Amino acid sequence: MTRPTTPITVPAARIAGQDHAGTSGPDIIDPATGTPIASTGFADKSLVGRAVGAADSIRADFSRMGARARAAALLAIAREIRAQAGELAPWIAAETGKRISEAQGEVEFTAKYFDWFAEGAADLDRATLRRDATREFHVSRRAAGVSAALATWNFPLSIPGRKIAPAIAAGSPVVLKPSELAPVSSYLLTKIAERHLPDGAVAFVLGDGELVTNALLDDPRVTHASFTGSTAVGHVIAARAAATLTRVTLELGGRAPFIIAHDADRERAVANLMIAKFRNNGASCIAANNVFIHESLYDDVVADLAEQISALTVGDPFDEATDLGPAIAARFAERLNGLTSKAEESGDRVVMGKRGPATGTYATPALIEVDKSAGLWDQEIFGPVMPVQKFTDEAAIVNEVNSWRYGLAGYVCSQDVARAEGLAEAMNIGIVGINNGAPNTPEVPFGGFGESGIGREGSMSGIHAFMEEQTITIQHA
Ligand code: NAD
Repeated sequence: MTRPTTPITVPAARIAGQDHAGTSGPDIIDPATGTPIASTGFADKSLVGRAVGAADSIRADFSRMGARARAAALLAIAREIRAQAGELAPWIAAETGKRISEAQGEVEFTAKYFDWFAEGAADLDRATLRRDATREFHVSRRAAGVSAALATWNFPLSIPGRKIAPAIAAGSPVVLKPSELAPVSSYLLTKIAERHLPDGAVAFVLGDGELVTNALLDDPRVTHASFTGSTAVGHVIAARAAATLTRVTLELGGRAPFIIAHDADRERAVANLMIAKFRNNGASCIAANNVFIHESLYDDVVADLAEQISALTVGDPFDEATDLGPAIAARFAERLNGLTSKAEESGDRVVMGKRGPATGTYATPALIEVDKSAGLWDQEIFGPVMPVQKFTDEAAIVNEVNSWRYGLAGYVCSQDVARAEGLAEAMNIGIVGINNGAPNTPEVPFGGFGESGIGREGSMSGIHAFMEEQTITIQHA
């Protein structure tokens, strides 16, 4: 696949099939080439209000459409996403710097969310019936109102998909606000979705993150907001949503521990770690963040990692030989390269990988045998810099991990799966991969403990977040 050659214009809003230009926003720059690939429009408060108004006006019709018809629409959207993979994947790669093969994987993963929530939607119309000696209980679910889908840039198609698919399943009209760093994929997804839905059921608004988000949260017609992004912004959103009692789902930052136990299969553990760390250029909320290696395997695993990290090809995401593409913008690459230099200055042993090409915003992959005092250990890295430490006692890791504010993902490598499961259960973490570097799929809950968020996406929980429940109790004579 080749990079898109014709620039695209992403409007400030798309409402009921119509683009609204808005005021001029920043261009989207391809981080590998430094060239503009899209111009953007930015919405003001009143345009956000129009998108919410269109969504609100369709509420009753959307609900009357019935869950089965919405499920059929979801399947049609999934089919069209797959059919348009040849356009979607290059835009994902061009706007984020993600490798083209991973961008293709993201397209398929997005379609799978629509498949999955179609299955979930099919059951939603049925009220649950319970009885006791004299009473009958009918429990039903219905969409609460308009939803806001507030997305981040690192999976610019699948994160919006993970929000709008369950909203459609639930019968909740949804206004999608993408990251201003990578809005193209979301815009294209909106255009696909709207072709299968009544006008207004899916709207798109782009603009200053704070302004648009606040306009959505302050609007009483918006009853649920699903945000993916940093923990810092998650706090701001939760506080703002409190004023209107808008319900929030928050998918926030992580600091996944990757534990290589004494009885791990070394080769498999290293292979899984390379996937869990370097997928998506390291910019994944479930990326391996703190690597704990048992002392008995430490020297060998570090030697393997040094060899594999040094061999990574850093370059153009459209080149099939590339292992790592650029960071999405210069400031992200500078931060990551700064973490490595700081660790080196503080005396940690650093093994640097290859540098990326001179043009483009590349972070250099690095392995760092870290001293806890360096500060690197204590933060979400969100890039291809890998801090490792030796450990002797798994119980101490559990204590340490449970003292962190984050609890999104974690990984355990051990040939004793039952023991690994015990270790996984002891940690306050939402998603744990055992001998597995890619633990997520649409059918299971995705989300974290503590300051990694509130609520879950994926699974049936992903739909229920968009719904209210009603209980009707009938007393018989
Ligand atoms: P971010 O929180 O800086 O930005 C996310 C979005 O928030 C932006 O697109 C912006 O429009 C908006 N925003 C910024 N400031 C705001 C404000 N004051 N009020 C309201 N909205 C505001 O995060 P990011 O850099 O885009 O993404 C990286 C973070 O996202 C990482 O911490 C990562 O772990 C997390 N993340 C989490 C998940 C998950 O599912 N848990 C998935 C992907 C990324």
